[in-house]
Amino acid sequence: MGKAPGDLEFRRVAETFSSLERITARTQLTLVLVKLLKDTPVDVIDKVVYLIQGKLGPDWKGIPELGVGEKYLVKAVASAYRVSEDTVTKLFKSEGDLGEVAERLCRQQQGRGAGLAAFMAGGQRRLTVSRVFDTLLKIAYAEGEGSRDVKIRYTASLLVDAEPLEAKYIVRFIEGRLRVGVGDATILDALAVAYGGGAHARPVVERAYNLRADLGLVARMIASEGLDSLARITPIVGVPIRPMLAERGRDAREILDKVGGRAIVEFKYDGERAQIHKDGDRVVIFSRRLEDITFRYPDVVEMAKSGLKAEKAIVEGEIVAFDPETGELRPFQELMHRKRKHEVDKAVKEIPVKVFLFDALYSDGVDLTVKPLPERRRVLEDIVVESDTWTIASYTTTESPGDLDNFFLEAVAEGAEGVMVKAVHSESFYTAGIRGWLWVKYKRDYRSEMIDTVDLVVVGAFYGKGKRGGKLSSLLMAAYDPKTDTFKTVCKMATGFTDEELDKMNEMLKPHIIKHKHPRVESKMKPDVWIEPVYVAEVLGAELTLSPIHTCGLDRVKPGAGVSIRFPRFIRWRDDKRPEDATTEDEVVEMYRRQLKKIEEEAVEQV
Ligand code: ATP
Repeated sequence: MGKAPGDLEFRRVAETFSSLERITARTQLTLVLVKLLKDTPVDVIDKVVYLIQGKLGPDWKGIPELGVGEKYLVKAVASAYRVSEDTVTKLFKSEGDLGEVAERLCRQQQGRGAGLAAFMAGGQRRLTVSRVFDTLLKIAYAEGEGSRDVKIRYTASLLVDAEPLEAKYIVRFIEGRLRVGVGDATILDALAVAYGGGAHARPVVERAYNLRADLGLVARMIASEGLDSLARITPIVGVPIRPMLAERGRDAREILDKVGGRAIVEFKYDGERAQIHKDGDRVVIFSRRLEDITFRYPDVVEMAKSGLKAEKAIVEGEIVAFDPETGELRPFQELMHRKRKHEVDKAVKEIPVKVFLFDALYSDGVDLTVKPLPERRRVLEDIVVESDTWTIASYTTTESPGDLDNFFLEAVAEGAEGVMVKAVHSESFYTAGIRGWLWVKYKRDYRSEMIDTVDLVVVGAFYGKGKRGGKLSSLLMAAYDPKTDTFKTVCKMATGFTDEELDKMNEMLKPHIIKHKHPRVESKMKPDVWIEPVYVAEVLGAELTLSPIHTCGLDRVKPGAGVSIRFPRFIRWRDDKRPEDATTEDEVVEMYRRQLKKIEEEAVEQV
């Protein structure tokens, strides 16, 4: 059963944002969202979902940034509420939140009766979701000469007709600081409950999201055509598929056991992941984050055109830089030269690349994501025409830990990071994210007791003392738990930052400071300030330990204790990762167990 078409008052969205902001438990977030989604007419449900995400569409569509900086926003607020820019700036300085300033000024103006007078005269109109969303789109797409004024005018036009609460969230949205605390997983849960009949519908909703990477579209489909329409979704060339990811493993025998005994083992290349879509002469390349990176790889576009026999296909591989003089593979940083548009032509010549293909997701009408890996590989080998720079990733098939270790050494000797061990059993389907030991990465050791670096999310921060007084100088870091869509603390990290990095970090974090613990964060420790979980950092530690003050792995190894990292050290920011791509709680617990096992084994050897 479809829902009635129509629009929705924006006020309803603003009120939901306001209640979401006060919630501190994740389950309540879902309930509030379910209610909003149920009340939303189908015609605007996609827009409502994008607004909740703080976006105007899926990232891969490349919708321009709104481009209304703080200065323009101050101008728009001043003009909407007929006060001087100076007044707005002063209030902003004292309150620290432009959204709240807009809310206050809007309320004052209503108090003065101006809003009421305008309303009586037919001047003020109720804001609808469509009007707000479409105006935001116009702001984003305004470009060229005079666009600055156009952006300010559109912003002010919304604020003039807004109620105070609406003004607050419009301003925050434009600033990119919505902070309603809802992740994709919560929206998926809410859609399953609101339109799929309950939590049992979640896998179907999630698969649709994996194949379309567009939550607005998924919401619109389920609300208008029901759950069945989602169950029928198959890949479309040109629409990115959310990538499959790997667990990490440390021991050849253990890894083989986990993947079911037998595996395809491939080199793990250190480059940039590419999902390559081909339709005749048209080729589009998506990154691991599903951004369109076609412009950076004109050479790969040509390779795909001549190197795929299928008319329409989606394949995946790793793009790796190599040294044209020696033919040796180069580290992934070399590819960064291709980031700047005007340097691409030069970089294509100076830093040539090879592509190592490892999967096929679609080929001429066949959805391969639902086929086991051996079948996908067979299709890949059928459709790929290899050349010097366009080849299938080196691999072997094995059930022997000894062979796996030998292949690992071979891979490292040839410049790979290690190997990827992939399940080949009857359920080894292509599934987004990390699922049930289907892919396992087995990498070179880092020179440290700790097996590997981890990628953790900043959820809080502490002020420093002495030279670092007044500055945020240590961070409360958390791992991600995909089962509950929450972030659980692992350690407090204070080392590894240069003074310069510390300054940059303070600037970066400032806009993300929030008044209370984020609802998706679970923490026993109370930092000086809470930080919205947006930034991911790579962290190296001395070892893993049990700790009563951290919530990651709480009660899993020992009652009352979580798993923590000793002497954590900042390595670098991982801007290419979303918080949901951080190391998971399960991985941290697994790393602890492995460390324990290693210590026990060493003790036995000594005896
Ligand atoms: P890292 O371990 O370097 O932090 P990551 O966290 O970005 O990597 P992982 O899930 O750990 O990503 O490793 C998977 C990545 O390895 C893939 O996203 C892909 O880019 C790369 N890769 C290299 N070779 C292969 C291969 N043969 N099969 C699958 N992925 C590969």
